[in-house]
Amino acid sequence: MCARIRGPFEYNNKEEFKEKLLEWIGDVFYDILPEYGYEVREEQIYTAFQSADAFCNNNIHLAEAGLGTGKTFAYLLTAFAYARFSGKPVVIACASTALQEQLAGSEGDIAILSKLLELEIDARMAKDPHQYICDAKVNDTTDEVSTMSDEVNEWINKTNRGERSEIPSMPDRVWKWIGWDESMACDICSSRGFCKLVKAKEHYWQTKDLIIVDHEVFFNDLWTRDERIANGQLPILPSYSAVIFDEGHKILLPAAMQAGEHINQEEMEHMIDAIEEIQGARDSFLSSAISMEHAFHEFFTNLNWHLIKDDCSKRLSIRISDDLLKTANAFKKTLNHLLMDFQIEQELYMESLSANQIQAYEGQIERATIALEQFCRNKGVDIISWVDGGDGSFWVVPRNLSELLNKKLYQKEIPVVFTSATLSNEGDFDYFIRTIGLKNVTKSTVGSPFDLENQVVVYMNPSSNCKKDDLNHKIETLVSLLNQNGGRALVLTNSMEEVRMIRKGLGKYKLPFEILWEDKGERGFLVRTFRQEETSVLIGSNFWEGVDVPGEALTLLIVWQLPFPTRDPIIEVQRKEARQQGLDVAKTVDYPEMGLKLKQGCGRLIRTQNDQGAIIILDHVIGTRWESVVMGALPAGAKIRTIGEVNFN
Ligand code: SF4
Repeated sequence: MCARIRGPFEYNNKEEFKEKLLEWIGDVFYDILPEYGYEVREEQIYTAFQSADAFCNNNIHLAEAGLGTGKTFAYLLTAFAYARFSGKPVVIACASTALQEQLAGSEGDIAILSKLLELEIDARMAKDPHQYICDAKVNDTTDEVSTMSDEVNEWINKTNRGERSEIPSMPDRVWKWIGWDESMACDICSSRGFCKLVKAKEHYWQTKDLIIVDHEVFFNDLWTRDERIANGQLPILPSYSAVIFDEGHKILLPAAMQAGEHINQEEMEHMIDAIEEIQGARDSFLSSAISMEHAFHEFFTNLNWHLIKDDCSKRLSIRISDDLLKTANAFKKTLNHLLMDFQIEQELYMESLSANQIQAYEGQIERATIALEQFCRNKGVDIISWVDGGDGSFWVVPRNLSELLNKKLYQKEIPVVFTSATLSNEGDFDYFIRTIGLKNVTKSTVGSPFDLENQVVVYMNPSSNCKKDDLNHKIETLVSLLNQNGGRALVLTNSMEEVRMIRKGLGKYKLPFEILWEDKGERGFLVRTFRQEETSVLIGSNFWEGVDVPGEALTLLIVWQLPFPTRDPIIEVQRKEARQQGLDVAKTVDYPEMGLKLKQGCGRLIRTQNDQGAIIILDHVIGTRWESVVMGALPAGAKIRTIGEVNFN
C-alpha cells in the first residue's frame, strides 16, 4: 500500500480543502514569506486566491497579472496543494525550455519555494525530446568523435540523463550528430527501454506533484494521447489533474503546429539522395524515386509562385489554386507509390540502410502524404497552410483548433489556468477567448505593483506631425533621442525590412555607442551583449517579448512602428471569420492583436521597482482610430507627453 503523501495542511473533505487552501495561501504570503524579506503584494495574493478558487471549482480561469506581481509563486502554491489533494500531478506548461529551467531548475522558483516553506515539492521536467541525447546516434558517430572537443566526449561518457542543458557550451553542429531528432525510429530501436530518452520519460512519469513541460510537449501529448492509448502505447505525459499555462497568450501557434504536419525541403532532399544511392535497388523502385523527386520539385516551385510575399511575416500565406492543388495531388501520388515499393521490397535495402533509417523514411513519406492529403481535401477550406519564411517548410494545420481544444481539453472538466501579463486589452479578454475558442471562463486581472506613475514617461508623436512622416525625419528623431539618452535603448520595429531601413538611415551618422542589429547575431548573444554593454542599442523586430534587461542598460524604449499584425495565415483566418460574422475586422482582430503585442513590448522597459525610463512611440497615435487601444496598452498611470517635450537631462 502506498504511504500517504503529506500535504501542506490537513483536511477531511473537499470543502475543508478549499477553506484550508485559502487559509494556507494567506499564511504564506502575509506571514511566512515576509519573514524572509518578501514584500506583501496584494496583487499577488489576489491572483493566488483567484487561481485557488478556479482549481477548487474545476474552472477554466484567465489570470492576467502585470509585471512584478509574482504570479509564479501565486499559482505554485495551489498547484502543489491540488496535486497532493487529487493524488495526480499538475502540469505546468511553459513557453520555452529556458522558462522550464527557470521554474524547475536546481535554483529555480520551485526550489526556492520548497526551501522557504520547508516542503518537499516533487517537480520534474518533461523536456522536448530534441533536448536529449540519443544513444543510437552516439553509437553511429565514430567518424565524428575525433572532431568533438574533450569536454563533449567526457560529458557523453558520464551523463546520466543526457540533457543538453547540462553542457551549455555544446555547439549546434555537434548536437546535430548526437541529439535526438524525428528521423530516429524509437519504436524499432534495439536500445529502446535502456536509452537516456526513455529513462528521462520514466523519471518524469513518476512525479508526485508537478510536471513542467513546454507548450509543444503539452500539445503533442494532448493531440496524440487517445491514439497512443488505443494502440497500447504510453502517452507522452502521465495522467494529470490540472493544467497551468504560463505565458498563456502564446499557446495558439504551438497548439496548431503540433496538430499539423509539415514537409521540410532539406530533409526531403536528404531522403531522396539516400534512396537513390541504395545499392541493388530494382529499376522500378528507382523510377518511383525519380518520379517523386520530379513531383517534389514541381510542387515546391509552383508553391513558390503561389506565396503571398510579406516582409513582416514569418509565415507566408499561400494562394490556393486548382493548378497548385493539381501539383500537390501529383506529388502525393508519387509518394504513395514510393511508399508501397519501399514496404514491399524492404529486405532488398537492408544492406544499404539501417532498419532505423528505413522506418524513419517511411514515417517521413507518410507524414508528407498526410500534409498533402489535408491540403488537397475540400480545396484547402478545412486547413490553414503556410510556408515558413526561414527554412521554407510547407505547413498544413487544422482550421478547427477551437473545436479540438474544446473536445480534448476544455471538456475534460479539470481546472485549467492561463496566466500571462497580456491576456486582455484593458480588462477585455474577448480577443483571447475567441482565438482559442473558450466558452465558460472566469477571469481576474491585476496590474503591476510597481510605481509606474513615477517610473515611466511616455512620449507620443502628435498627429499634427503627419506631414513630416518621412523616413529622414524619423531617422533624425531617432538619432537625437539616442544621443540624448546616451544609447541604452531598445528600438522595436515591425519587420526586418524596417531594421534594414534604419541601418541605411543611420549609416551617415557617427554614434558613440554600439548598435546591435537583429540580423547580425544570434538572439541570445545579442540580448546578453545588450545587457553587458551598458550604452549599447538593440534594434530588431523580434524583441517585443523575452528581453529582460533591468537597470541602466535599458532606459529608453522606442516603438518605431506600431505592431499591427501582418498577413500571417493564422491571423488571416481570424480576420476571415470576423468578416463572416459581420464584425469589424480592424476592431475585432487587428487592434486587439496590436494592443497585446504593444503591451508586451512596453513591458520590456521596467523590470524592477528601481528601474526608470521613457517609452517613445514614433508612429502616429493621437487622433487615430486605435488611439484608445494604444493608451490601454501603455503602462498604467504613466505620464503622457508629446515628443517635442522630450528632455532626458
Ligand atoms: S530509443 Fe530512440 S532515443 Fe533511444 S536510443 Fe533508440 S532511437 Fe535513440
